[in-house]
Amino acid sequence: MTSANSPLSGKVALVTGASSGIGEATAAALAAAGAKVAVAARRIDRLATLSSRIEKAGGTAFAIEADIAKGGDVAAMVDRAASEWGRLDILVNNAGVMLLAPTAEADLDDWRRMIELNLVGLMGTTKAALPHLKASKGHVVNVSSVAGRVANPGASGYAATKFGVVAFSESLRREVYADKVRVTVIEPGLVRTELGDHITNQEFKAGLEHRLATMEALTAEDIANAILYAVSQPPRVNINEILIRPTDQER
Ligand code: NDP
Repeated sequence: MTSANSPLSGKVALVTGASSGIGEATAAALAAAGAKVAVAARRIDRLATLSSRIEKAGGTAFAIEADIAKGGDVAAMVDRAASEWGRLDILVNNAGVMLLAPTAEADLDDWRRMIELNLVGLMGTTKAALPHLKASKGHVVNVSSVAGRVANPGASGYAATKFGVVAFSESLRREVYADKVRVTVIEPGLVRTELGDHITNQEFKAGLEHRLATMEALTAEDIANAILYAVSQPPRVNINEILIRPTDQER
């Protein structure tokens, strides 16, 4: 049960990609810390299950069905989140896909899918949220990746989107710091989630499964804890970047 003393009491958050993995764990963590949480993704049944789990634990949540790779959906998603409780304080841009393949074999549609969701969707969601975040002196958390700092073979398209998220976030930070809006980039290493399920290149899919079988990957909750840390700091503290690898991961 949350109370007026909970660190995020009175705050409203929107978490994208909350139907599984890091987004789901983050929504639960923010709600447990007292925020009212709007959870968005395409799989509305999973969002409904998450919302009722949060409510049963004493939190407040509601689900928004949205395809973030479709331009029109993002403004409507942000409007719904902000109008439900009359404000928006925290935006966690987490929805993403990772379709690994060597450049020579890559499917152009896979690249388009990653760019439309990981980059354009995140940017459009941020743009739509900015008026609300300026009004609340709010916080944008963008989930990039270690692949936004280290570009490995087979990740050319994915890394291009995640380097893009890092660049977008730094430019945004410098545009909005004077409005007291904070911007944080989260850069996880390997986390055990559903992310690899969508890879169509069998060699890279098997490679990821091998890494997951042979190293102790992070959990979605490890990343949620980092996000909670960033958004729970006093207003003067702007955590710009957190890169988190599993101890077992070299690069
Ligand atoms: P998951 O696959 O478990 O979660 C991805 C989320 O994105 C799901 O909730 C999914 O929901 C949502 N999503 C996918 N496509 C869309 C869409 N078109 N519109 C709206 N939502 C969409 O993976 P993770 O939790 O691992 O991934 C979360 C973020 O973390 C991603 O940005 C990923 O790049 C990043 N990351 C993950 C790492 C890892 O090792 N797992 C490492 C570094 C970064 P739905 O399908 O219901 O729409």
